[in-house]
Amino acid sequence: MENTQTAVQPQLRKYLYQKAARNKTPISGTFELTPRCNMNCRMCYIRMSKEEMEARGREFTAAEWIEMGKTCADRGMLFLLLTGGEPFLRQDFREIYTELKKLGLLISINTNGTMIDRETVEWLKQDPPSKINITLYGGSNETYRRLCMHPTGYDAATRAIDLLHEAGIYVTINASFTKYNIEDMEAIYAFGKSRGIKVRAATYMFPPVRNAKDGIVDEAVRFTPEEAGTARAKAELYGMREEEISFRLKALHAGRNEFMCGDEDCSRTPDEKMGCMAGRSSFWITWDGRMTPCGMMNEPVTRPFETGFSEAWKTICQETDKILLPPACKDCKKRFACVICGALSIAEGQGDSTKKPDYLCRQTEVFLDEMELEYQRRQTAESI
Ligand code: SF4
Ligand code: SF4
Repeated sequence: MENTQTAVQPQLRKYLYQKAARNKTPISGTFELTPRCNMNCRMCYIRMSKEEMEARGREFTAAEWIEMGKTCADRGMLFLLLTGGEPFLRQDFREIYTELKKLGLLISINTNGTMIDRETVEWLKQDPPSKINITLYGGSNETYRRLCMHPTGYDAATRAIDLLHEAGIYVTINASFTKYNIEDMEAIYAFGKSRGIKVRAATYMFPPVRNAKDGIVDEAVRFTPEEAGTARAKAELYGMREEEISFRLKALHAGRNEFMCGDEDCSRTPDEKMGCMAGRSSFWITWDGRMTPCGMMNEPVTRPFETGFSEAWKTICQETDKILLPPACKDCKKRFACVICGALSIAEGQGDSTKKPDYLCRQTEVFLDEMELEYQRRQTAESI
């Protein structure tokens, strides 16, 4: 069955984000409800055990999140993403969701899907979210065992996707590719295609800016920039229909990036500051109550549960406005195809957003080379 539902048309969403940014309305928020998770993925930057979490702070209660939701809605929030860790791990998740839903918000949920069974789907069906994003970490239980320490994760996650899809709940597949699961890319896309479900791939992995494991990151997980560029090209090609591919390749060959973006949550802008709407009309609140422009940034940071939302948001907007992308990007010929943004430039520049992010430059270069090769290959085939 083709999944024809969409949460909110991407064009409309983009328009609303940009309009909101003009008067600094926080139209979109993320509540990271917990750092706990029932899986333990090698590349995860949030996941903590209950003991690790308790050593650092505490989760905010359902009542606190609901109250925060009310304040945000009063200030203009329309889109809300509930994420974790694994949000379904919270005993009070249903209470939080139900109360926030009553505010009329368009709620999306990020989950690994492994805790969603038939009964959960029946419950969600009563008042469905706008969208559920399930991350697929591989194309088999073996990959889940290797990457996520969950030997039956694939069966559980794909079953959840099927149940949600059959129930008519809008579901998308997120896939984060690393050295541990790159071999499964084709299988993940094939799974999505067989159900008519969109797959949204991430092939860039941040360096350890926000690492739960005290800065210890499994370096073996991150691609080299060359591998990341190749993986990005592959993911694009697997993810498009045949007619979209030739359109995309022609545009890139001509130095344009006008192909419609497959990501309906995308709020990117081609400017010299953040490059997106983070800290302009969207924000993130971490499990321990820190507000940042986006979940991949540690700074600027405020504490909305302590100072009140308005004060926290005002400071985030002011500080975000000072962030500048690397000067090297300004006249860069590859910029049209590059995913540079504020969070990324700070992470790659180890705190200095103006440093040239060599990793990303190389990744973009390889991506463009790979796409050009494919373009030439098809041109040759057509002329024979
Ligand atoms: S390729 Fe490098 S210099 Fe060019 S826009 Fe991207 S990050 Fe900036
Ligand atoms: S990762 Fe970059 S593009 Fe995405 S929300 Fe953060 S700053 Fe914006």
